Amino acid sequence: MAAEQRKRLEKLMGADALDPQSSSRKHHVNLHNPRICRSFLVGTCPHDLFVGTKQDLGPCPKQHLENYKMEYRAQILKKKKFPEFDLDYERDLERYITECNRRIDTANKRLERTPEDIAKMQETTQDLEELDKNLALALEEVELLGEAGEIAKAAEVHEVMVEPLRQKRAQKERELRMLSDQSGFSGHQKLQVCTLCGAYLSRLDNDRRLADHFTGKMHLGYRLMRQAYKEIKAKNDLRRRTTGGGSSNSGATSSSGTSSISRGGGGSYRPGDQIVA
Ligand SMILES: [Zn+2]
Ligand SMILES: [Zn+2]
Repeated sequence: MAAEQRKRLEKLMGADALDPQSSSRKHHVNLHNPRICRSFLVGTCPHDLFVGTKQDLGPCPKQHLENYKMEYRAQILKKKKFPEFDLDYERDLERYITECNRRIDTANKRLERTPEDIAKMQETTQDLEELDKNLALALEEVELLGEAGEIAKAAEVHEVMVEPLRQKRAQKERELRMLSDQSGFSGHQKLQVCTLCGAYLSRLDNDRRLADHFTGKMHLGYRLMRQAYKEIKAKNDLRRRTTGGGSSNSGATSSSGTSSISRGGGGSYRPGDQIVA
């Protein structure tokens, strides 16, 4: 068997599958092996969702083997339950969704031009005018001293008054430019943040570009993740209720931030939603 072909088969079936000595391996597939990725078994591992995008999570540190997944499905069909796998899957998804939501919040904050921002811009402009006035006065004094032949005194005034004022002015100018850049960011481009994946969308984009976003790998990845999270959480919640919170780690799983995490309606987002200017 060609090495390349063998490698591919191993990846698909697990190294054991190709070992002639382990003909009984099927009965030894231990789904509880900690090296096996439970998210992959139960649903879709987040590491598989964003390959090649700027959200690429890199390869999963755990094993994704098709024959383990087949075995897991066979067990499920035989009514076997794996509640701890479901809990791990929920926890895994929750981690990535919380991270994404945090990114969305940050992106939204960048877009806001709050009354505070506007007040700060006005204040900075006033400071700048004040500095210009003082600078003009200081320069005038230097000039007068120079005309009066008091060169040493003129140089002193230049050093202790003109230079510091110039530096302050340059600093204020930078501040003002930063402030107006921020407002230009939200103001001119009519940007908003995608509520599912956190990407910036322009309300000036045409339908074609928006459609590209909504069918793009990153957006669909988060949409799938949110939908899967909603489903697995409902399943686990039901189990938690019926067993009276029995499972050892049930309580800690998602006690924090549960309400904020289910934003975006779990993926009922279609092109055109929320994008009306
Ligand atoms: Zn994985
Ligand atoms: Zn999106």
